[in-house]
Amino acid sequence: NEKKKLISSLMRKIPDFPKPGILFCLIFYRDICPLLKHPEAFSAAIDLLTSHIKDTYPNVELIVGLDARGFLFGPGIAIKLGVGFVPVRKQGKLPGETVSIPCEKEYGKDMLEMQKDAIASGQKVVIVDDLLATGGTLLTSCKLVEQQEGIVLGCVVLFELTELNGAGRLPVKCFSLLQS
Ligand code: 5GP
Repeated sequence: NEKKKLISSLMRKIPDFPKPGILFCLIFYRDICPLLKHPEAFSAAIDLLTSHIKDTYPNVELIVGLDARGFLFGPGIAIKLGVGFVPVRKQGKLPGETVSIPCEKEYGKDMLEMQKDAIASGQKVVIVDDLLATGGTLLTSCKLVEQQEGIVLGCVVLFELTELNGAGRLPVKCFSLLQS
């Protein structure tokens, strides 16, 4: 539809970022900054992701958003749904007691963390990020939620690089608004 076309036209392809020679570069980095600057497209992106969650997971209790670009979409979605927001952060950024799990990246390991009391046992969660590539980030985040006995209903991203088959690594469905 028209909204998706507009959003797609504002996803800028950037070669050789973040570094030449790593996976993202072979596929082009997708820069979402032009989208964020376009108020109509940015709000359409949030609306479409929110509608999907509302229709598919009407019982969602919490949105979990991933450091850093998941923070640009997750909170807007959580507010529209009337549920809370929980951040997953890179190591050393969250105060208090945390749980952490290593995240395999193409160029090494990253630790992802969540506050220990962030999720109550049995709480139903949808995880939001901007983009699905290899799936390592979303997979690790699913594990963090499950480690705290939360229930991951599904994952939702703006964009999926389908050629990397990241969705196949995840224990739940991942909805993407746009795909390569
Ligand atoms: P994965 O763990 O699926 O390989 O990578 C996804 C994570 O890396 C997401 O948190 C996403 O923000 C970031 N990422 C990887 N490639 C891109 C890209 O081309 N564009 C954007 N905006 N983020 C990317």
